[in-house]
Amino acid sequence: MTSQRTRERLIQRLSEDGIANTQVLEVVRRTPRHVFVEEALAHRAYEDTALPIGHNQTISQPYIVGRMTELLLAAGPLDKVLEIGTGSGYQTAILAQLVERVFSVERIQALQERAKERLARLNLRNIVFRFGDGWDGWNALAPYNGIMVTAAASSVPQALLDQLAPNGRMIIPVGTERNQQLFLITRTSQGFDQQLLDPVHFVPLLHGTQY
Ligand code: SAH
Repeated sequence: MTSQRTRERLIQRLSEDGIANTQVLEVVRRTPRHVFVEEALAHRAYEDTALPIGHNQTISQPYIVGRMTELLLAAGPLDKVLEIGTGSGYQTAILAQLVERVFSVERIQALQERAKERLARLNLRNIVFRFGDGWDGWNALAPYNGIMVTAAASSVPQALLDQLAPNGRMIIPVGTERNQQLFLITRTSQGFDQQLLDPVHFVPLLHGTQY
C-alpha cells in the first residue's frame, strides 16, 4: 500500500494536474509521506488528499504542497525560508530538500515534537524549529527570502510582511473558513506586489500557543 507503484502514481497525477517543476516532483517522489501520518492512515498516505494528524489539524494535500513549493521557488533558489505551521512536518521535509535552511514555526507543541522526531529520523538537518505564534513570524532571524504559510490567515500578518527580504516571496492562503485564496506576495523596491492565485481550503491560522 505504500509500494513504489502507489508512490509513482501520485507523482504522475501531480504532474498531470500541473506541477511542472521536476525538482519538486523528484523530492515528492523520494519523501516517504506515510512516515508523517499515524500508522492507521499510512495506507492512504499516497492518495492526493489531506489527512487528519490530530489536534484538529491536517497534513496538506500533496498537490497543494507541490503547488506552493513550486510557486515559492519560481524566481530561483532560496537560502532562508520561514514556514508557518509545521504540522506533521511533511511540507517542511519537502522544503528542506530544496532550499538551504528552513525555519519552521508551530503553535501546538505536541505536533512540533512529533514533526521534529520524524525529520531527524529522515536525516534532514537544515531545519530550525520554533514553538510560538506564527502571526509574529520569527523576527530574531529575519529577513527571509521565502515565507510559506500553511494555515489560512484572516489577513496577511504584518510581521510576516516586515520579515520578508527585498525581492522575497511569500505564499499564503488568506480568507475565511469557507472562502480562501492563495496569494503570492513579492517585496519590491516600491512595496509589495500581490498576486491572487487558486481557491484553497486550509485550517485557520490561529492565535496564541497550545501545549
Ligand atoms: N504543512 C503542514 C500543515 C499542517 S495544518 C503539514 O502538511 O502537515 C496547519 C498547521 O498550522 C497546524 O499544525 C497548526 O497547528 C498550525 N498553525 C495554525 N496557526 C498557527 C500559528 N498562528 N502559528 C504557527 N502555527 C500555526
